[in-house]
Amino acid sequence: MAQDGKINPFEMAKEQVDIAAQHLNLDPGSIEKLKSTKRELIVHFPIEMDNKKVKIFTGYRVQHNVARGPAKGGIRYHPDVDLDEVRALAMWMTWKSAVVNIPFGGAKGGVECNPKEMSLHEIEHLTRRFTWEISLMLGPEQDIPAPDVYTNPQVMAWIMDTFSILKGYSVPGVVTGKPIELGGSLGRFEATGRGVVITSLEALKHLNMVTEKAKIVIQGCGNVGGVAAMHFDRMGAKVIAISDSQKGLYNENGLDVKRVLNNKAKHRCLVCEPKEETEITNQELLELKCDILIPAAMESQITKKNASRIKAKVIAEGANGPTTPEADDILNDKGVFIVPDILANAGGVTVSYFEWVQNLQELIWSEEEVLDRLTRIMQKGFKEVLGISLSQKIPMRTAALVLGIGRVAEASRLRGLYP
Ligand code: GLU
Repeated sequence: MAQDGKINPFEMAKEQVDIAAQHLNLDPGSIEKLKSTKRELIVHFPIEMDNKKVKIFTGYRVQHNVARGPAKGGIRYHPDVDLDEVRALAMWMTWKSAVVNIPFGGAKGGVECNPKEMSLHEIEHLTRRFTWEISLMLGPEQDIPAPDVYTNPQVMAWIMDTFSILKGYSVPGVVTGKPIELGGSLGRFEATGRGVVITSLEALKHLNMVTEKAKIVIQGCGNVGGVAAMHFDRMGAKVIAISDSQKGLYNENGLDVKRVLNNKAKHRCLVCEPKEETEITNQELLELKCDILIPAAMESQITKKNASRIKAKVIAEGANGPTTPEADDILNDKGVFIVPDILANAGGVTVSYFEWVQNLQELIWSEEEVLDRLTRIMQKGFKEVLGISLSQKIPMRTAALVLGIGRVAEASRLRGLYP
């Protein structure tokens, strides 16, 4: 599975399908179909940078499966983006939508770039040209992007605008996670983080643990980790550590979450105040003793190398693919309760679905309505996955995959093979 010591996320995602398939009555042909992507587009395109030099970028859009509905999934801007990562993320989107039972298939996109070193102007140009390059795959009935790592509502606005110009009329339903002013949904920005909190609370309830006493460790402080931190803090739980891509902050009695996040927004990095907290590395953060560990950054953070040193009682995966299958085995043996990514972080795509429905129907829902529906869907998803886990005596991740893959396989079976 490992190539040059690097874990290949697509190999990992396919391995997960094989694990789940052992508990589903599927023929080998169906399993092969579920493990392959449907469409893959690779584009190389030029952008004139601020220094007037032309730079070539590489981008991807992959649709994994559309048996249950239009392809859905975010676009990430990151230096490490490659085809196999996008394939894996597209596959996880398919299972995720199926686990929470929303009528979408799975897709993902990405551009290999470092937005931290680019001006807003360059990011806009890159976004517009990339949208144009992949526009043949997009559309409210075909494929609907959304924000992911290092993309945001502004980027979604440029996607919507570029696609609308191509069509000659406004098409808000082509993308979700837009600014509210352009047809974005109230509650979408916070949705993934909120979903992580909702499913974490369900896990605590199941394990008879008390929220107010819970110690929380969060890797990542973007719109997943940061939002989860704020909500846990408001509920009286103690967020004892949080990190960004550079470093972590730790105070065993609880961080001042508001100050930490305000500083992050102001300075665009975490600021350690030595009287209040200690600076730690991301690796140290993952291994802290805590009740809930929330990896909310990138893939392959918990591997066979560090899994045995993880001391969390619960892991709620805000990120996609943060735990490798080998690490899963070690954590399961240790009795760690895992709320897997395709359940824990499904709040984002769930509210994306609400946004899409509102766009298609030209309706505007209140934030209360969005949150109420989100809570019900996430709690139902948790209950269903837990039910399968308990009745079949399988880990939560396998149970979530059994539920998600089972629904996709059944949709495929009913649709049949053409011709
Ligand atoms: N990028 C988010 C995810 O990985 C959201 C995708 C969406 O809303 O389509 O779930």
